[in-house]
Amino acid sequence: MTEIREGALAFDASRMLIGGAWSAASATLGLEDPSTGQEIARIARGTPADIDAAVRAARTAFAGDWGALSAAGRGRLLSRLGQLVAARAEDLARLESRDVGKPLAQARADALALARYMEFYGGAADKLLGETIPFQPGYTVFTLREPHGVTGHIVPWNYPMQIIGRSVGAALAAGNACVLKPAEEACLTALAFAQLACEAGFPPGALNVVPGLGKEAGAALAAHGGVDHISFTGSVGVGARIQAAAAANIVPVTLELGGKSPQLVFADADLDAALPFLVRPGIQNAGQTCSAASRILIERRIFDDVAGRMAEAYRGLRIGPALSDPDVGPLVSARQKRIVEGFLAGLPEGAVLARAPLPADLPPGGHYIAPALVAGVDPADRIAQDEVFGPVQVLLPFEDETEALSIANGTEYGLVAGIWTRDGARQFRLARKLRAGQVFVNNYGAGGGVELPFGGVGKSGHGREKGFEALYGFTTLKTVAVNHG
Ligand code: NAD
Repeated sequence: MTEIREGALAFDASRMLIGGAWSAASATLGLEDPSTGQEIARIARGTPADIDAAVRAARTAFAGDWGALSAAGRGRLLSRLGQLVAARAEDLARLESRDVGKPLAQARADALALARYMEFYGGAADKLLGETIPFQPGYTVFTLREPHGVTGHIVPWNYPMQIIGRSVGAALAAGNACVLKPAEEACLTALAFAQLACEAGFPPGALNVVPGLGKEAGAALAAHGGVDHISFTGSVGVGARIQAAAAANIVPVTLELGGKSPQLVFADADLDAALPFLVRPGIQNAGQTCSAASRILIERRIFDDVAGRMAEAYRGLRIGPALSDPDVGPLVSARQKRIVEGFLAGLPEGAVLARAPLPADLPPGGHYIAPALVAGVDPADRIAQDEVFGPVQVLLPFEDETEALSIANGTEYGLVAGIWTRDGARQFRLARKLRAGQVFVNNYGAGGGVELPFGGVGKSGHGREKGFEALYGFTTLKTVAVNHG
């Protein structure tokens, strides 16, 4: 038993939600506070048998009370859940901040996004329409959007609330029963969310949560024959395994994977407006963001100006424990810190243009790293090609639009891209030519809008989450042809 208390939230972190009951696991795992390195809770180490029980409970709910609910009824439950999340947003934010090591203001934004996902998908549930298709005389043909059945959701530790919101929210709105496997590094808000779903009145089994290790609980969920669709957000390597496991059962997958997202800054850009958007998406959540702007491509004649302004911004960054609400908190784990340090250690002499200052009084067990701005490397170098997943941005000069495009599209990823220019024709031209699932012109991220479909091309994955588009992925289309003569 591990009692977690945060404001009005109180729950046993070592339990799993299966079929509406909070069950104890046969073993537990330690959960660490990345700001201090201290253990904050014991969480369930879900087994394949627990996953099997959760899938069966979801199947029962889908065939029973949950499946029988009208679309409007599902929408009402999601809306109610959104209101509960909004009412506890501060508590959820503090929980997420402790668990992930995420600066409090950023965790607050995530909690509000979770509420907003429930509001958006609550409103969308009864607006998922089919169509009628003109066909031969004597026929009426129409399509029905039907839920897959049981959907599996495997999510990472970096944005638990946001990713649960977009994936589970859309799946429930479409009428699926869900089994959620949160990440072993951070799963407290997944459990708190599940508790709020029970409070909102979701029927038992509509949402099941089984924490545990990826290679145990995650792999069991991906390979389970009773799962009809898998939504996975995480690394490319694990994504490939999930796709292979789903292939064995011939079930569809949505893969939201990594990125090496570029922003292209042209000499005619409004640099004052651009600057915060160049820096913030690189260091937000300590750079542990799939859509992090990890490559900044700068037209050569303004390179020194932009690099100088970014270096100055880096030197002013505040680093500290997550709940003290710094600009940059710790990385999630010692392992993640080793990976980021490995990238920096491999750089040529003089490639680090600026680093943020590390305060002397940081808690000794925390996984802090000074954000680094890198320049003078080749676009083909590892630091400019691979996802670092830490507070490191690479600055790359370009001569003209053609070169900018070639560098921007020159990685195996294709998640997000940003363009900064006042030239309208160039905005449209590049928006079409950039290889990415989202392109932002004179902004980056558009405030994380839940309405905006999101996903990648290439190694960044396939399928779309967020927005109305996600509902198509969480449904299957049935065509009905009636011969009425
Ligand atoms: P990860 O792939 O190691 O883990 C993600 C989830 O998969 C966790 O729940 C983990 O337990 C589970 N898992 C691990 N091994 C598994 C296996 N063999 N079978 C089934 N499940 C398994 O990823 P991570 O390191 O936690 O997250 C970082 C990665 O996620 C980065 O590459 C990042 O870009 C990506 N990410 C992508 C998005 C997006 O929307 N595109 C969002 C956030 C993070």
